[in-house]
Amino acid sequence: MKLVCLECLGNTFFCVLASRPTLLREQHYQYLKKGLRHLSDAYECLDASRPWLCFWILHSLELLEEPIPTNIASDVCHFLSRCQSPTGGFAGGPGQQAHLAPTYAAVNALCIIGTDEAYSIIDREKLLDFLWSVKQPDGSFVMHIGGEVDVRSAYCAASVASLTNIITSTLFEDTPGWILRCQNWEGGLSGEHMLDLKALLRWVVSRQMRLEGGFQGRCNKLVDGCYSFWQAGLLPLLHRAFSKEGQSALSEQRWMFEQQALQEYILLCCQNPSGGWWTSPATRDFYHTCYCLSGLSIAQHFGNLRSHHELILGKEDNRLAPTHPVYNMCPDKVAQALHHFLQLPVPKDKKPSSDADPSSASSPAPPQAERPDS
Ligand SMILES: [Zn+2]
Repeated sequence: MKLVCLECLGNTFFCVLASRPTLLREQHYQYLKKGLRHLSDAYECLDASRPWLCFWILHSLELLEEPIPTNIASDVCHFLSRCQSPTGGFAGGPGQQAHLAPTYAAVNALCIIGTDEAYSIIDREKLLDFLWSVKQPDGSFVMHIGGEVDVRSAYCAASVASLTNIITSTLFEDTPGWILRCQNWEGGLSGEHMLDLKALLRWVVSRQMRLEGGFQGRCNKLVDGCYSFWQAGLLPLLHRAFSKEGQSALSEQRWMFEQQALQEYILLCCQNPSGGWWTSPATRDFYHTCYCLSGLSIAQHFGNLRSHHELILGKEDNRLAPTHPVYNMCPDKVAQALHHFLQLPVPKDKKPSSDADPSSASSPAPPQAERPDS
């Protein structure tokens, strides 16, 4: 679908649509390709987040529909195999402690590569052991043994477990109830202890800023490119949830946010002229590059079980591949991974007994590096 400005039909000099914002495709490709082989000193602080760098770069490349050279894919597989802990799960770097965040990043990166070599690296039995080692009696998950409880850890656990087909009947017992208790007053909570979807919708659409068109992370935070995915990616999930409820007023062509305004913000305000993204064009990093591209993809593609509609701001060449809003990988890679792992049996559940010695699970943890934007 080609956009035409309804205000001026493209005839005004200052019309944003007439100026056709451009995705700097080649510059982004060169920036990303270089990052797979060489990182500047600025990335030293992410030494405990190295699988993330693999995921951010590989996912950005797949959104740009740039193939990953076979030798680089194999090198990434080898590196991630060294990040896998002998006790299951992946660490932020070789020899470090297993942690749910790099586990999510490593599993996604391997599924984006999508080769037998990549899939075979994931030790599913030990991954299940690791998930049990961080599962808490109330249904929550800690990020690592001895670490903090965070709703993001539940997401990482659910994502890797569903992708690799290791969900047992008890692994996520009490987790939905725990997540429901995390909904705060801004997002409301109904009397029936169901997630209040309308309150959640009201909260997330209120995060899209009227002036900039991009999203803020929470009330009173500045707009930021990375929330283009973290917030806009929620809208397809809410669309699906409302659709299952039978809401008849749902659009069959648009998500419930200003897709055009988000594309304008990402393309006009966040692109570094030399490739890469951040919140402003003055600087860049791989984290924001990944999530600006992911948000741009969400804003370009509407899809449900019945239809697919594209809304590409600017040139047709700005079009990215669609991304799966749950896993944040391209849907074909999600389908391929599910097809592969669903052929394998779910590992035998080794739920730890409740009277196990808790002191054995409290070894000191190395600090996990924050991403550049915290
Ligand atoms: Zn950010």
